Amino acid sequence: MPFETCSFSLEHLGEALRASRSTRRFLRFRDISPGTPANRICLLRHDVDVSLEYAARMAYLEQELETPATYFIRMRAAGYNPMSRRGRAILKEIEEGGGEVGLHYEGVGDAEDPDAAFRRFLLEKAMLEDLVGHAVGVALHMPRRCHGFDGRAIEEAGALYDVSSQERFGGMSFVSDSNRQWRGGCICEHLRGNAGMHVLVHPVWWMPEVQDADVGNIVRRLAEGD
Ligand SMILES: [Zn+2]
Ligand SMILES: [Zn+2]
Repeated sequence: MPFETCSFSLEHLGEALRASRSTRRFLRFRDISPGTPANRICLLRHDVDVSLEYAARMAYLEQELETPATYFIRMRAAGYNPMSRRGRAILKEIEEGGGEVGLHYEGVGDAEDPDAAFRRFLLEKAMLEDLVGHAVGVALHMPRRCHGFDGRAIEEAGALYDVSSQERFGGMSFVSDSNRQWRGGCICEHLRGNAGMHVLVHPVWWMPEVQDADVGNIVRRLAEGD
């Protein structure tokens, strides 16, 4: 049944998740193996670009609805610190509530030394693993601006997975709310079908205090490295 209005709000996200939780399986990325059938699966992914507090609000909603998601966390965002007392508490709440925490890593810019960038990746991964107490999967931040590391190097570094692995996640259709815009329709429409979905939802775009007029500024600051 279609909803009357689609919007970027926690209310509408909740409606979309509630409507599909009886027909879909919401799995964390680490629950998928190369042979897992994709049909009716939803991999709900949150790239935490701007704020852990926004991620926490989304996690509370998903815990209430029992639709677990995977949260990819940056180690050098301008706006939050996962190693702070509050940061660690949020990571713990996400995982204790049934979600998963992974690393949202910053890749290699055109002007950067790839070896230095990879050493930094290893350090960030080790720090996050120390915080959560287990090996983590990884997702590249700003893929249109930075290159990721190759799958083999990531595997050899001991990551659980890379979300861009075709072998493991290639059976899912990918949709994203990048820049507060869905391509090919709102999340509620995508979840209505049976196809396996990898749905990227950035918590920042769903918060009431973030206005449409703020989007350009937020995107620009992220592109500058904040
Ligand atoms: Zn909708
Ligand atoms: Zn990102």
